[in-house]
Order: sequence, then structure tokens, then C-alpha cells
Amino acid sequence: MNRPAEFEAPTASVRGLLEKLGEGRLSVRDRLAIPPQEMPAQDPAARRGNMDEVALGYSEEQARLEALRCLQCKNAPCIASCPVGIDIPGFIAEIAAGRYAESLAVLKKSNLFPAICGRVCPQEVQCQATCTVGKSLKSLDKAVSIGRLERFAADRERESGRLEVPAVKPATGKRVAVVGSGPAGLAAAADLAKEGHAVTIFEAFHKPGGVMIYGIPEFRLPKDIVGREIEALEQMGVEIRTNFLVGRTRSLKDLLDRDGFAAVFIGSGAGLPKFMDIPGENLIGVFSANEYLTRSNLMRAYDLQHADTPIFKAKRMAVLGGGNVAMDAARTAVRMGAEKVFLVYRRTEREMPARVEEVAHAREEGVVFRFLESPTRILGDERKRVTGMECLSYTLGDPDASGRRSPVAVPGSEHLLDVDAVIVAIGNESHPLLLQTNPEIAVSRRGNIITDETGKTSMDRVYAGGDIVLGAATVILAMGEGRRAAASINRLLAEE
Ligand SMILES: Cc1cc2nc3c(=O)[nH]c(=O)nc-3n(C[C@H](O)[C@H](O)[C@H](O)COP(=O)(O)OP(=O)(O)OC[C@H]3O[C@@H](n4cnc5c(N)ncnc54)[C@H](O)[C@@H]3O)c2cc1C
Repeated sequence: MNRPAEFEAPTASVRGLLEKLGEGRLSVRDRLAIPPQEMPAQDPAARRGNMDEVALGYSEEQARLEALRCLQCKNAPCIASCPVGIDIPGFIAEIAAGRYAESLAVLKKSNLFPAICGRVCPQEVQCQATCTVGKSLKSLDKAVSIGRLERFAADRERESGRLEVPAVKPATGKRVAVVGSGPAGLAAAADLAKEGHAVTIFEAFHKPGGVMIYGIPEFRLPKDIVGREIEALEQMGVEIRTNFLVGRTRSLKDLLDRDGFAAVFIGSGAGLPKFMDIPGENLIGVFSANEYLTRSNLMRAYDLQHADTPIFKAKRMAVLGGGNVAMDAARTAVRMGAEKVFLVYRRTEREMPARVEEVAHAREEGVVFRFLESPTRILGDERKRVTGMECLSYTLGDPDASGRRSPVAVPGSEHLLDVDAVIVAIGNESHPLLLQTNPEIAVSRRGNIITDETGKTSMDRVYAGGDIVLGAATVILAMGEGRRAAASINRLLAEE
């Protein structure tokens, strides 16, 4: 599905716009008249049966047209609403001019992993939400597709086969440990290695990448993209030790006092799934989304010809929740052959935290959305296998602490949903192990590590960031946190 690496000649329509641009005659009106470019995608019927990436990426023609829609605003509200402050008009102007390597260089100043963020960042509630084009055309859908352009610039380099390895300063002789290899840990490791420190990442799983490898499915984020970022890190000299559980294999104190690390960054994520706490959750056929997705992605259960990892095959599945994790689980279940997949959510589509694009893709793939509904118990047979789910109907009441209207149960509305498996995707929290074995680290009531504005924890020389600090958040926020803590560690080590 990859597009050819060689450049395509611009068509007459793009040439005309570029000529105007070159002569300084491309007006705001011209830019606003360019139609928003749709992202080509795999046909829904075909993709139900494969794990290939759904969104196919812009052609060069589309990318340049989309880039020419950007008004290059002086005040650039998009930059202020990007969590890592990317120079968005800057990288887009380079695409419009056909200078893709330069565009990527602008992106990489603020974002180490644009091919990843271009695919999974919730741009519609960040940079694109404040885009002047969207506001001028009175429709958020018509904002410049910043994420798709970011992906385009990053993919041009990937398709060329080049692997850009950032320069590393001379060795300082100081060692830093990074716990966890998700986006927070990888971003911290990159910035620490650039400074010349010897970095070791300790990862509990057998493969690095965190949620980007074990949680987000291949059809949204191809694993070779994450693999390339990890390869670049290794070429910078970062050592990755997998199957290493900090807190069990070694304590944080051991790393600092016995193993010679001068500082530690914790980016251990929020990998502990929450459950509903309703009768029947222990029946055979009830899973957390984490387990289901880990079996499919990390353990490659979907790859029936090459892996013999068991995964529960069901005919009628219910997925509980309304976030990205729920969408990923439901869409994976479709690909694993479930005949009917219900997405059960106790509010309405408007309150769902999942990305709009993911909801649309799930619907196209046949996922049936059941709003204003939530289970009260899961039913099983004498062999303890799921046979159905009892649900209540809901209406919406006043807004709750999250600002969304709260679900209110309708008394007497009990009804049955005929399913033979249930996937619970109602959120994750931090795993207690690392924190139980290191009581020096202060945590919040919800079990998240408390840090100061530099990313430092209550333990000397120990920093933290990403989901373990923020609670389940986003890839870009985790990266930003990793970079902030790395900058603090770099300062600390420079002073010694
Ligand atoms: C299914 C799913 C879909 C998502 N979709 C999106 C999306 O579309 N867009 C988006 O922006 N965000 C999405 N998110 C959220 C995003 O993936 C997370 O916010 C992000 O990965 C957090 O990064 P992190 O580095 O803090 O932790 P993680 O990515 O969770 O990585 C933590 C790593 O630490 C390891 N670890 C944990 N404890 C230890 C230990 N004691 N010793 C050694 N290693 C340890 C874990 O094995 C893991 O590999 C999704 C999350 C899930 C679960």
C-alpha cells in the first residue's frame, strides 16, 4: 500500500496555485477555496479481513493542496494548542513548497516521532480545533488537516529507506536508567542520549514500545514505524533490556546505589485495567481490553498462520466503553471474525472520548453502537461461559466533574443482550508494583506519581512522566513529559 518514494510532478491545478504563491498573489480567498483533502482509506469490506493500515496517507498532490490551504497566520493559534509547540505553519509551508526533508526537520525540532503522532494524535481537539481555516469556514471538519500533513512529511523519509539518527555529543561517562519503553521513556532516552549520557531502558515486556506496540493495533499504527524509532535510538547507543521488571528484578534504589546509574526516569505508564465490578466478570469470555489487545498485537494472535497465541473467538461480542481503547478492541474483534460486535456506552456519541475518525471507521466496519446503556451483570451457563449480559437503559442528567452530562439509570429498564464474550474497556490506572516496592515515591490518591514542574519525584535523582504521572493520557503528552524530565536530568548531571 506504500506510495512510491519518487516525487510526482504537480498537476496543473497545483502548479497554478504554486505560481500564484511564488508571485505573492495567493490570496486568503484562494486558499480558502481549495477543497479540504480527504484521506484515502482501505475499503471497509476488505479491511474487516486484514490488519493492514486503514488510512493510506496523502498523495503528493493532495498534501501540497492541503498545505496550500494553511493561511500561515502570524499569531498561529495552532502552535499554542499543540502540546509540544510544533511550528505548524513552518512545516506546512515547506510541504507546500515541495521541500519535504526541510518540513520534517521543522517537525523534528519539537516532536521526535512525527510518523507516530501524525497517525494517533487527537489533532481535532488540539491544533486543528483552533485552526483559523476551520473557524473561517465555520466547520471544524474543514480545518487544515495538520496531522495528515505531519504524517505525509514523516512518511516521505520512511519510504526513502533512510534512517535519520540524531547526533550524539561526546560521552559524559554518566549512566541514566529509563523504566518503561513507551513514548515517555523513548523520548526521554533520546534526549538523554543526545547529551552524551549512557542510557539503559528497562522494559517489562519482551518487546519495547509500550502501548504503541502492545495496545494500538497494526491497522492504526504499523509496528515497523515504532520499530524504526527504536532502531534509531539503538544506533544512538541506547541499550534496551527487555523482560526486566523494575520493582521485582531490581528496585529503584538498587539501580541508583548498586548499579551505578546517576539518575532514573520512570515512564511505566497506566497498564492496569479497571473493571466494572459487577456480577459475572469472572466468567470465561470476559476480558480487559488490555489483555485482548496484547494477545492480538504483541503476541500476534491475529497472525493465524505464523503464531499459535490463543485468543478467545466469539460470535457476538460486547465491548464496554467509549474511548480509543474501546474502539481498538471492537475493531480488532471484527478482524478476529466476530459476527456481531456491540459497543455499549452509557452516554451518547457526543460524550464519547474516542477520536471522531476512529468512531467513523468502527461504524464503517460494522461495529454496532448501543448508546445510553450499561451492564448490570454478565450471565453464564453451567460451564461458566458467558451467555449474555443484562443491561439498564440510561438518560443524560446534569454535567459531572468531567464536564460531560452524567448518565442516569432508567428504573425498571433491565433487558438482555445476547453475547458470548465481553471486553471491558472502561479505563486504566497505574500498576502498583513499582510503587509498592519503592515507598519513597509519593503518589496521589489515584496512584499516579507526584512530580514537581521539572518532572522530579519525591525521591532524590528519580524523575517521572507520561501516563504514570498524568493518568491514562495521550502519546504526545507522554512524549512531552519524557522530554521535560530529560531536560531536568541533563541539567542536574551537567552541574556535577
Ligand atoms: C489501546 C489504546 C489505544 C490508545 N490510542 C491512543 C491514540 O489513538 N492516541 C493517543 O494519543 N493515545 C492513545 N492511547 C494512550 C497512549 O497510548 C498513552 O497515553 C501512552 O502510550 C502513554 O505513554 P507512556 O510512555 O507513559 O506509557 P506506556 O505506553 O504505557 O509504556 C509504559 C511501558 O512501561 C513498561 N513498564 C511498566 N512497568 C514497568 C516496570 N516496573 N519495569 C519495567 N517496565 C515497566 C510497560 O510494559 C510499558 O511498555 C491509547 C492507549 C491504549 C491502551
